[in-house]
Formats: sequence, structure tokens, C-alpha cells
Amino acid sequence: MHYQSFLIKYAEIGTKGNNRYMFEDALVHDIRRKLSRAKGEFRVTRERGRIYVTGRDDDFDDDEVIDCLQHVFGVVGICPMIQLENTHDYRAISDKVLEYFGEVYGDRKLTFKCETRRADKGFPMHSSEIDAEIGGDILDHFPNTSVDVHHPDVRLRIEIRQYINIFSEVLPGPGGMPLGSTGKAMLLLSGGIDSPVAGYMISRRGANIEATYFHAPPYTSERAKQKVVDLANEVARYTGPIALHVVDFTDIQLRIYDKCPHEELTIIMRRYMMRIAEAIAEKRNCIGLITGESIGQVASQTMESLYCTNEVCHMPVYRPLIAFDKQEIVNISEKIGTYETSIEPYEDCCTIFVAKHPVTRPHPENIRKSEEIVLETMKPLVEKAIDTAELIWCDGK
Ligand code: ATP
Ligand code: MG
Repeated sequence: MHYQSFLIKYAEIGTKGNNRYMFEDALVHDIRRKLSRAKGEFRVTRERGRIYVTGRDDDFDDDEVIDCLQHVFGVVGICPMIQLENTHDYRAISDKVLEYFGEVYGDRKLTFKCETRRADKGFPMHSSEIDAEIGGDILDHFPNTSVDVHHPDVRLRIEIRQYINIFSEVLPGPGGMPLGSTGKAMLLLSGGIDSPVAGYMISRRGANIEATYFHAPPYTSERAKQKVVDLANEVARYTGPIALHVVDFTDIQLRIYDKCPHEELTIIMRRYMMRIAEAIAEKRNCIGLITGESIGQVASQTMESLYCTNEVCHMPVYRPLIAFDKQEIVNISEKIGTYETSIEPYEDCCTIFVAKHPVTRPHPENIRKSEEIVLETMKPLVEKAIDTAELIWCDGK
């Protein structure tokens, strides 16, 4: 069945009082932007707390439109609709409903309920009459159906307005808040499973994001970098274009490796990552950092390690996965489409310079002392890493 129109359901922004219009504007704006990827031209209209997406002509692909809408944060549900002119003619509605019902549900055994809303009070039948008549017509044509007004499998909605809208399916959207409804944050994006999910989750709360990747050529390959670009593009399908800053981290890692106790390498390296990411974040007007850390996942993510990594930053560090199990993170990454790329086997800079026995309960005092040794000579290296970071725009294509 080819649909003409899509009713967009959104929940949370409905509760924001006077801010509501701002949120709706942001939502409409992002819907338009996401639809620009699809074939066809669309009208996105707002009508009394609802948003409709309608094809300007028939030349579009339903699945492609639904896919675009499922990448818009703030969208809770998408109802594909068919429409017909409102000629005040009951038979025309009934014929269309029967055609729709047959195409969508075939001869399936199911229970249903009709829910008519009549905004056009000039229509010659009341909504309860229409419900009863349409219900009878469906029962006559589809012998496997029955009516259940309390817990129906299918809620058939008929809206009598300027046009007649007919729909019953609600496809899930990603939920969350519309993009741009809060500030911008810098994601520390590696090639792993966790950080793309973390970026997705914070952006889903309405934040725009940029990303920083620490690259250690020649110890990490061009292919490892490409994998991160690919991941940024996948996340960008939801978040909009991501400015990816690729930092050459090799000299810094080598200096740490040379001078600092090996069991503390990872923690000290993580502290430098946070400092550099924060400096780039400041330059780019970001007001928070995002990481994919989760308590206890690896030695560098015990609470003691997180304390040590955290203490070098001034900005809030958002760690949306902090209390998630790995499997829960994998489930989200599969859902959002980053998993397959994340498991490609390319080395990360963290995996190259690792100690056999990293500290799992680092003491901040000890880490600061070990860092003292390199602190001064590291300054120009850090400055250079920030100044020479390569900017790659990842626009999700
Ligand atoms: P991920 O799956 O996100 O790589 P991980 O389980 O491998 O996470 P770590 O390697 O300890 O965990 O990294 C913790 C967090 O630090 C990552 O989620 C990411 O935010 C950041 N990070 C790690 N390596 C890099 C890197 N090379 N570039 C940018 N950020 C990184
Ligand atoms: Mg990693």
C-alpha cells in the first residue's frame, strides 16, 4: 500500500508549556532536514499539536520516508495514513477503509475497534454512528475479525477534517528531544562499540555533537581512522552532520610510554585525551564532553580510574552508559546500526600501548606524581596536537 501522508506523534515536548513552540519548530526543522535525503518533495505542516508529513505528489518511497522519520529525535511514533477528499459521502469512506484494511491486514485473525473523530461538524453522521457502520462493514468483509473495544489488536482511526485521514499503524520513532533543543557537546569517539552509542544517547536528549578521535599513526592504520569516520557518519544519520576532529596522538603516547610507569599508562593517556578533547571542545563552543565509559568494564573504568580521569576536566563529562551492562550497550548499537562497523577488527591506540598489569585502583596522588615527570615537556606536544587536529565533516551520507 502506498501512503499519502504520515502523522507524527511526539510526546515529551508536549509538556513543555511556553517552550513548546520552540521544541516543535526544532522538530519540524529536523524532519525537513532528514526528509531532504529521501526521493520526493514533502509538505511538513503543524496543526493543533500535530505534525503531518505529506508527499507533494506520489513520487516517493514509503519505506524511505519512514526510515528518515525514524532518525528524527523527538519522534515517538509514525502513523502512515491514507487520505481522501471529504465530500460528506459515507460510502466513499467505507470503500477506502475496506481497501486499506484488506491491504494492511489481509485475512488475519484479529480484533479491532473503530475510533472516529469528527472535527468537521458539517459531516452528516456522528462519530459513534460512523464507528458502528464502519465496524459492521469490516465484520462483513473480513470474517476473521471481531470487535474488542477494550484491548483491540488494531485501533482503526478515522479523522473527519478538511480531508479524511485513515490510519491504524504506529511505527516506533527514536523518542527523545528534538535536535538543537539544548547545548552542544564533544564526544570522545573511538572505533569501539560504546562511544557511538554514548553519542547517540546524549544527542537523543536534543544536544548537537562534535567528535574527537585520537589517532596514533603509524601504530594505528588509516583503516582504523576510516572506521571511526564510518561510525561518525552512522551516528550523523540521527544527529545531523558531525565535525570530527582527528588528533595525532603518537608523540604524546610515545612520551608517556617512555617516561611513566607502565602500569599507569592507560590512566595517564586517558587524562591527556580528556584534556585535549576539552581544549578542542572549548574552541568549538561545546559545553560538555561525552564518553562511552561504564563502571567496571575495564581496568581504566573502575570508579578509582574514573576519578583520576575525571579530575583533569572542568566541563561536565556525560557518561550515558555508566550503569549499563555490555550486552545492553550491544543491543542499542545493533538497533541504531553502528554494531557491524564497531566490530570490524582494526586496532585502537589504547590497545597498542597497554601494560600487562594496569592499575585497577589508581591513587590520584600517585598518578599526579607520575605525570609530573612529563608535564612540562608535554605542553608543546599537547598544543601541537590541538593545533594540527584534522577536521573531517561527517554528514551521514
Ligand atoms: P569504546 O567501545 O567506546 O571504544 P571501550 O570499552 O573500548 O570504549 P576505553 O577504550 O577504555 O573503552 O575507552 C573509554 C572511552 O574513552 C571510550 O568510550 C571513548 O569515549 C574514549 N576513547 C577511548 N579511545 C579513544 C580514542 N582513540 N579516541 C577518542 N576517544 C577514545
Ligand atoms: Mg575503545
